[in-house]
Amino acid sequence: MGIRLKSGFMKKACIVSIGDEILTGQTVDTNASYLSEKLVSIGVPVVSSYTVGDDIESIVKSLKLASSDADLVLATGGLGPTDDDITRQALAKFLGAELELQEELLQEIQDFFTSRGRQMAAKCKVQAYVPAGTKALANNLGTAPGIMAETTRPEPGRTKGKLVIVLPGVPSEVRQMFEESVLPELRSFAGGQAVVIRKLRCFGTGESNIAGLLGDMMQRGRNPLINCTAEYGVITLHIIATAKDRIQAQQMAEKDEKLLRETLGEFIYGTGEQALADVVGEKLAQENKTIAVAESCTGGTLAKLVTDIPGASHYFTHGWITYSNEAKTSELGVPADVIAIYGAVSEQVAEAMAQCARKKAGTDFAIGITGIAGPAGGSEQKPIGLVYISVDSNNGCETKRFVFSHDRSSIRLRAAQTALNMLRLKIYV
Ligand code: ATP
Repeated sequence: MGIRLKSGFMKKACIVSIGDEILTGQTVDTNASYLSEKLVSIGVPVVSSYTVGDDIESIVKSLKLASSDADLVLATGGLGPTDDDITRQALAKFLGAELELQEELLQEIQDFFTSRGRQMAAKCKVQAYVPAGTKALANNLGTAPGIMAETTRPEPGRTKGKLVIVLPGVPSEVRQMFEESVLPELRSFAGGQAVVIRKLRCFGTGESNIAGLLGDMMQRGRNPLINCTAEYGVITLHIIATAKDRIQAQQMAEKDEKLLRETLGEFIYGTGEQALADVVGEKLAQENKTIAVAESCTGGTLAKLVTDIPGASHYFTHGWITYSNEAKTSELGVPADVIAIYGAVSEQVAEAMAQCARKKAGTDFAIGITGIAGPAGGSEQKPIGLVYISVDSNNGCETKRFVFSHDRSSIRLRAAQTALNMLRLKIYV
């Protein structure tokens, strides 16, 4: 079946995720995020997605909604042999077609079992049925074939119906079938549209401030579209440029990247998938500089982030986790009276931790972190989330006070990331 939709309009997609286990939260819908990313990368924007349980009427309803939203519907789940796998019947009902046994398909399923020295269970025969007029898509990893269909009722302005593709739910099967069977069909479907996505990574300010600084650039419907996602203080700006060819889309994305860099300045620390530890490590390695860390409330999180990067041994020399006051004194040399006077969570102790660590390790930089990660231990003067971070170098010692929100693990991760950001701002100037 060679499916071509009328060219000259932007093709859009909708994703339908089928399965009670997604609705109950037992399964995280990774199929939808995988498919969205893939579709956007070939120039087909995803305009909506639906999650629906194992119920024929609900699936039919969602397929109707999806095909009214978009030109392409990609659904996953419910193609297996068990009684709760009813997507096949629902698709037949939606298409107004009968399920037909395809002998070839039955043979393939039987061969799948034979080649593994097993006998096909009678229930598996149901997987050899597909709605009349549709095409089965090979599944090399499992027994449930995918199904590709075209709705027969053209709408005004369209010469063809909508393309509906149903894949099994198992993520590895979805990936393999999408790459091998679906993608070749969709390349022509995308109609020559090209989408270029660039990601800029920011740290040191909030989403609302970024939105304020970018103003109209973040307006919906703009091309390139600028989207923003946030995770543990890292804000990622996605520049999504759509054009009729790749070169044009690339130029549009580059122009926006330049504008964003001018507007956001040092808030932007990297691109693509880069972590703060990547860019910091790269610079330390380039400049032949070294670093040590002394951590209290982050319990080694900072050392882990730094050493997660391959090649960290070129610049990371020491890490201390000095949780107790005694350890801060005996292991690092923080004066006991500084702790007694100012308290373990104080600017003075963070500074002493960084200075002592640098002296002991003999590094170019050292970071000291002390704070209250919670959930207990806070007070009015020293609330939960209070963290002092100090970066010591030849140019002196800089200490900053932060109050991070959310739970213990977020506070620890935010503190470690913020420490890396302080170091980045020092080594990149
Ligand atoms: P089979 O029953 O042959 O395994 P199927 O097409 O019937 O295939 P489902 O039963 O719906 O698929 O799902 C199989 C498994 O795949 C689920 O138990 C779940 O672990 C995973 N899965 C299903 N849908 C999704 C999804 N949207 N995202 C991530 N995982 C999923």
